[in-house]
Amino acid sequence: MTADAIRTGTSQSANGPRSYGYFIDGAWREPADVLERRAPGTGVVVSMVGAGGAADVDAAVLAARRAFDRGVWSQAPATERARILNRAADLIDANSTPLAALDAEEGGKPIRLSEGDIAGAASLTRYAAGLAVQMHGTTHTNNGADHTGLVLREPAGVAGLITPWNFPALILCQKLPFALAAGCTVVVKPSELTSSSTLEIARLYAEAGLPDGVLNVVTGDGRAGGALAEHHGVDVLSFTGSTATGRKILTASQGNLKKLSLELGGKAANIVFADADLEDAAEGVIFGAFFNNGECCVSQARLLVQDSIADAFVTELEARARRVRVGQPLDHATDVGAMIDPGHLESVLGHISQGRTQGAKVVAGGSRATGPALDEGLFVQPTILDGVGRDMSVFREEIFGPVLTVSRFCDAEEAIALANSVDYGLANSVWSKNVDTVLPMAKALKSGTVYVNTTIDAPPTLPFGGYKASGVGREMGQAGFEEFTELKSVSIRTGKRSGTFAFGGTHERTA
Ligand code: NAD
Repeated sequence: MTADAIRTGTSQSANGPRSYGYFIDGAWREPADVLERRAPGTGVVVSMVGAGGAADVDAAVLAARRAFDRGVWSQAPATERARILNRAADLIDANSTPLAALDAEEGGKPIRLSEGDIAGAASLTRYAAGLAVQMHGTTHTNNGADHTGLVLREPAGVAGLITPWNFPALILCQKLPFALAAGCTVVVKPSELTSSSTLEIARLYAEAGLPDGVLNVVTGDGRAGGALAEHHGVDVLSFTGSTATGRKILTASQGNLKKLSLELGGKAANIVFADADLEDAAEGVIFGAFFNNGECCVSQARLLVQDSIADAFVTELEARARRVRVGQPLDHATDVGAMIDPGHLESVLGHISQGRTQGAKVVAGGSRATGPALDEGLFVQPTILDGVGRDMSVFREEIFGPVLTVSRFCDAEEAIALANSVDYGLANSVWSKNVDTVLPMAKALKSGTVYVNTTIDAPPTLPFGGYKASGVGREMGQAGFEEFTELKSVSIRTGKRSGTFAFGGTHERTA
């Protein structure tokens, strides 16, 4: 089995499913077993990828280790690393149409969002190229005339990257170019549901001139991910996925105490005060809740709205929710596409039904979306549940579908208590034109990101990550880059050494 060139068409019926091997040491390797992927919008098999296991992961890690130790990348001049990253970004841009189609088709996400993801992936890659040339340590000459301290910033080694299905190319590029910019070599394990764009991006990196073995991709399910998390040849592991899997990775990775970055689940709130620009806020709430089908870690799945405006605001949201277009992922008119797989569709519908049972009122949607263009796929109506209390499961648990819950608050203190009462702490949004409201709110919210008068707005310069059950570590920004580096302190004494150690000399210098 060999990987084909990127297809520009999206119809699988004419050409059959795409087939991919593993990408290891610069070559495509045929897998022993394969996994089929059905498009969630149509139910048609669109791709087949290797069902990797421990032996495949081992081969990939060994290739990455050899490449790291050869120094072809880790010791390459930073300008050379930046040149190849910039070339890869150009190739991602040049192939944006087929790459976006792969993620929309396999992931069920609307093609317009997918196109935005690919543009974001190229932009993250360019930003990381800039970080490569700025990678440096520090010099310390204030410990006495005969002492010089150097703090070297070095690549952490072999990086394992495990990614989820909801933003396949974008989340890959929140990790991969940062690891490469730092000089790491890499093994990627994409989600078994959406592997194609990762494999195509690996091909583009090879075309950009990345040396063999620096980037390796092994596909497969949690067994391949688990083997990567356990592998003692991996020095740093960056994972994005559910909190439940994050906990397993924490345990699996302890054998060699690898550096870990875990980007996990969320249950963000959009907090709307009466003095907000309510037009902007209504648009932001609808976008935040239904963006990427609601299958988004920073999905603003909870609305907390101030009592005095709540009824009118919810009426406005109902009207807007009715205008959200559910449709085939590859249709440019679609706002909300298909749920990722049949099990997840059932889970989302189950959460809605549980919310009803617990006393929530369905004010929009509430069921599976059907119709001639939708019947073969996994579609849910954009749903709003009003009257949701903080003890209800729909308020506390990650639903990961197009479902917005509405709860009311009287003042900032109550809003903070409600927002912070869940286990997660990834992101929240605050809507108010009063700086005396938004700044104390931004400080009090226990989340890695707070959006103010905007939502789901993440430029590459800002570090991204979670408090509490939403994770450990950061992606993007300087902090995200540093996750892929180690610091080494070099302590240098110059001049005559005699009589300066603790035994028989002064203690001062070693104290
Ligand atoms: P998931 O945890 O099921 O899978 C994520 C990845 O981990 C996949 O590649 C999967 O194959 C792999 N995996 C599964 N079991 C594993 C194991 N035991 N060991 C190692 N790897 C294993 O998550 P998902 O369903 O793909 O993605 C949805 C979840 O991801 C949601 O909870 C969402 O909030 C979260 N997410 C978080 C962020 C963030 O930045 N914080 C971004 C996107 C998604």
